[in-house]
Amino acid sequence: MRDMDLIEISLKDAISQTRLECPICLLTDKALDSTIDSLLYEMVNDVLIRSELRYKGLCRRHVTRIETYLSRHMELGSMGLAIIYSDLLDHLADLLKSGSNLQRSSSCVLCEREKTFESLYLKAFLENVGELVELYKSSQSVLCFDHYAFIFSKLKNSLKADLKEVQLSKYRHLVKLLNSFVNKHDYRNKESFTAEELSARKTAGKLIAKNLDQWRSSK
Ligand SMILES: [Zn+2]
Ligand SMILES: [Zn+2]
Repeated sequence: MRDMDLIEISLKDAISQTRLECPICLLTDKALDSTIDSLLYEMVNDVLIRSELRYKGLCRRHVTRIETYLSRHMELGSMGLAIIYSDLLDHLADLLKSGSNLQRSSSCVLCEREKTFESLYLKAFLENVGELVELYKSSQSVLCFDHYAFIFSKLKNSLKADLKEVQLSKYRHLVKLLNSFVNKHDYRNKESFTAEELSARKTAGKLIAKNLDQWRSSK
């Protein structure tokens, strides 16, 4: 089976099984988690990875990601990460000792991996867009604004209008859930929160969050 077929299958599964979450974000996160897992486990002593880490470094967001992953997978032990940090500090010490002029760069090893995973899933979505918009419409998944805007910007035909319609109705549904969550905080309220309202409260942050770029109206 081609890699692309596997990607398509996991994309379809994610769209149909995800509730109030973005399937592209979810799959990208999963792929990144497994990269972090192998980074902390079998790749700690990998010479190529080490030199890539030294060259590209780790950004704050991804250090936080790694630490969070490790705190949820204590079985991995923290020795691997200590080795990585010590190696990076060693490299930074050399860098400051050399006294050369330094330049800032914005992405890290994991930023790059994340972008690659994300574009694979976005590409698979676009290649099967006719079928997937239908599946998306009947599902409970919600594309985050960033991934929606990207896919929308690449569509040319009537699918553009279809996708927009579907996305709007999903957003209206989310707003309704959040409003109802807020209204139930009234002290006179006796009704408890529904599972859907609680999920909406949890997932909305990721659905509105900017990725690296901000989408604005280009008018
Ligand atoms: Zn997303
Ligand atoms: Zn990063």
